[in-house]
Order: sequence, then C-alpha cells, then structure tokens
Amino acid sequence: PLTTADLIEEHRICVCVRKRPLNKKELTMKDLDVITIPSKDVVMVHEPKQKVDLTRYLENQTFRFDYAFDDSTTNEMVYRFTARPLVETIFERGMATCFAYGQTGSGKTHTMGGDFSGKNQDCSKGVYALAARDVFLMLKKPNYKKLDLQVYATFFEIYSGKVFDLLNRKAKLRVLEDGKQQVQVVGLQEKEVKCTEDVLKLIEVGNSCRTSGQTSANAHSSRSHAVFQIILRRKGKMHGKFSLIDLAGNERGADTSSADRQTRLEGAEINKSLLALKECIRALGRNKPHTPFRASKLTQVLRDSFIGENSRTCMIATISPGMTSCENTLNTLRYEEEVS
Ligand code: ADP
Ligand code: MG
Repeated sequence: PLTTADLIEEHRICVCVRKRPLNKKELTMKDLDVITIPSKDVVMVHEPKQKVDLTRYLENQTFRFDYAFDDSTTNEMVYRFTARPLVETIFERGMATCFAYGQTGSGKTHTMGGDFSGKNQDCSKGVYALAARDVFLMLKKPNYKKLDLQVYATFFEIYSGKVFDLLNRKAKLRVLEDGKQQVQVVGLQEKEVKCTEDVLKLIEVGNSCRTSGQTSANAHSSRSHAVFQIILRRKGKMHGKFSLIDLAGNERGADTSSADRQTRLEGAEINKSLLALKECIRALGRNKPHTPFRASKLTQVLRDSFIGENSRTCMIATISPGMTSCENTLNTLRYEEEVS
C-alpha cells in the first residue's frame, strides 16, 4: 500500500498531454485525426476513423498520464490542473517548474501564452499570465501578505548551449557553479513586477528581442528553450521560484543527421538537453548522486529546481492530432511515459 511519503513523492511530478485540433493546413492537405482521448487520463493513437488507403499500418497504442486533455480543452482548464497547484509551492518556499514539451507546431507556445503576434490568441489566457495572476492574488491573502514578499521576473533563452538574457537586449550570460554547487547565471536581469500586466509586458519585450533578426519567429523558437521565471523574495532573499519553460521542438533532436553542420549541432544539443531533462525530472527531489545536471545548460541552470524537498514539476506535452505527425507524436508520448 502507498504511504503518505509515497503519495507526496508521486505528486512531485505531474505529467499530462494536450491534443490540439487539426489546423487549416492539415485540413487542406486532408490529414486525418489519429488521436483519441477516451477518458481524462488516456491517450489513444490509432488508425484514422475514415476509410482510407493507408501507406502504412498504424498499430493501436494506449498511453496513460496524470491528465489527458482533448482538443476542446481551454488554456484555463489545462492550467488549472497543471501549473495552478504549483503556485502554492513557491509561497511555501518551494521551487516549481512547468514545461511545455512537444513537436514544433503542436501548441507549446499557445499553451504558455507566449505568442504576441496577436493573430492566434489572447496571451492573457496562457499559463504565463494565469500563473502571474494567481501569484498576485495569493499575495493578498493575509498569511502571505504579512510576509511582505516582492515579485520579480526573469526571461532568458538557451540556444545551442548558450544563455541569452531576453530582458537585456539578448546579452550573452555566463553560468557559474560555486563550490557548493549553487548555480548562478551571472548578470541575469530580475525585473520587479507589480501586476499581471507588468508580466505580460516583459514577456512581450522578451519575445520581440528573442526573434529580432530571425528569418521566422517559429523557426527560431523551435531551436531554443525559453525560460520565464517568477521569483518571490523576502527582504532580498529568495523565498520561492516558479520556472515556466517553452522547450525547443523535440523533433529537432532528429536533425542530428542533417547535412547542414549548424543544424546538426543544434539538433545534437537539443537532444542532449531533453535527455538530461528526463533524467533530472526522474530524480526530482530524491537527491540522487548521479543526476546529470551538468549534461546540458538547461538542466544546469534549473538545477536548484530539481533538488530539495520542496520541488515540484509539471510537464505539459502538446501533440498534433494528424497522421502525418504520428511519428513525432509517438516519440512525445514515449518520452512522457518515461518521465512519469
Ligand atoms: P509550438 O509552440 O509547439 O511550435 P504553437 O503554439 O505555435 O506551436 O502552435 C502552432 C499553431 O497551432 C498556432 O497557430 C496556434 O495558435 C495553434 N494551436 C496550438 N494549440 C492549439 C489549441 N489547443 N487550440 C487551437 N489552436 C492551437
Ligand atoms: Mg513555439
């Protein structure tokens, strides 16, 4: 039987999957839906329901997670079951992380609320903004109000193993580890924020900085991890930290066979960081001696969020419903299974 300790351990990590609807492009090319969410924690990959001549046979496969969200689920609902419970964690002096993981185009940025182009969605309904909203609401509760906490935000990007400050004109930053294995991103700007609007403004600033000079915003974001952090401080000392991460597209790991050297190196780096991330999440809070924090910049920078009694994480894996994406979708589902 499960003990209370087992239960706490079990809830350190929440793994869920979100299916998006078929988009216009997929509908135009007559891609077919091969994903069904039959209950709130099951994802099924299957042949399309329509009768078609299949070029290959798609075996029925079933996966189980903490939550599975179908294509009618709103950001607010996804948030409520994933990042929302972690807001408490940072008020209780803990470290929280929320990852969006998946193939490029599957809905990571849509979920996090990091798309400020205005074409696709209202960013005030993404996980970044909703988490910020609830942080400011919690701050008003009497037992937290009396702590006199200040809220700060950072926003940086990890690209090819290098860290760039998105709130400081993309300054390249060094990561240092002291003798006690405390990790520091030297010079990372922390901006004080007083309300949700402040947070949204910072994300917009960071985003425009992130993609400036790039051929396409999506091409760039698919190759880099974006880390947004909400930090609570009390008399200057860190009280809790919430890291919200829009990961590089996981299909990029496959670019290791590309002919273009730059693309190949990027792919290898992304592969390495996502593998290290899996191991670090599996070791979460258990103080395992061989956790490969140093194996990638991403895990090194997030190190303090994986260790310690009071660290919790959730991973939102986003998947495309189409048959043309099923290889990537299956890779995402297998990764998620291994993390949980
Ligand atoms: P990613 O960040 O994983 O590359 P995006 O979040 O940019 O993917 O999503 C790709 C496109 O699909 C965007 O136009 C986005 O608005 C749309 N989209 C993603 N998820 C959903 C969803 N759950 N419902 C409706 N549209 C979505
Ligand atoms: Mg994106």
